[in-house]
Amino acid sequence: QYPTEPPDCLVDFPVPFAVSWVPQNSLIDIYNQFLAALESLKEFWDALDEIDGKTWVLEPENPTRSATTRRIAIGNNVSVNIEVDPRHPNMLPECYFLGADHAVNPLRTKLNNNMHLWDPEISLLKNLRELLEIDFPSRAVLEKIDFARDCGICYAYRLDGSAPDRVCDEPRCGQPFHHACLYEWLQGLPTSRQSFNVIFGECPYCNK
Ligand SMILES: [Zn+2]
Ligand SMILES: [Zn+2]
Repeated sequence: QYPTEPPDCLVDFPVPFAVSWVPQNSLIDIYNQFLAALESLKEFWDALDEIDGKTWVLEPENPTRSATTRRIAIGNNVSVNIEVDPRHPNMLPECYFLGADHAVNPLRTKLNNNMHLWDPEISLLKNLRELLEIDFPSRAVLEKIDFARDCGICYAYRLDGSAPDRVCDEPRCGQPFHHACLYEWLQGLPTSRQSFNVIFGECPYCNK
């Protein structure tokens, strides 16, 4: 079909790469459109590069240029998952906390109370630090204080591609688990009780 139709372009972008094309165009025109698209995404990549470089990103493990989410380790077995808008990387991203309630609730409160402090003139990471009133520790620091990243039952991080998404609610424990591992474990315990599709029982770590 070329040159009536433009060539297929495969890019690793967080947004679609729509080529504007007339049959008189050449491949150089596509290349120039590609460069302009790169430029328009620079702010987005700069924001995420800073996070990748200065924090411990649990997920994705090797982010591609199209990845818009990051799960960042905070401490006390707590992490925050952010979803960044590639077109507005300096806006407050969607934030979802994972961890024991007693550790996560104060962070949610801070986020809500400090939301008005968000400053689009400073970087995403700096804004998150200001709003949550925390410094995101590096991987080396978190590993020293025993940040548990892996599932407490299967001892792996990934199970069928998913990361641990349940945590023990005991303040001194906070051990993460895969929901499939925990479900199977609790089903085997006589002390567990089930209500609708939620199962409650003792933590395999702290017995609470
Ligand atoms: Zn597991
Ligand atoms: Zn526990």
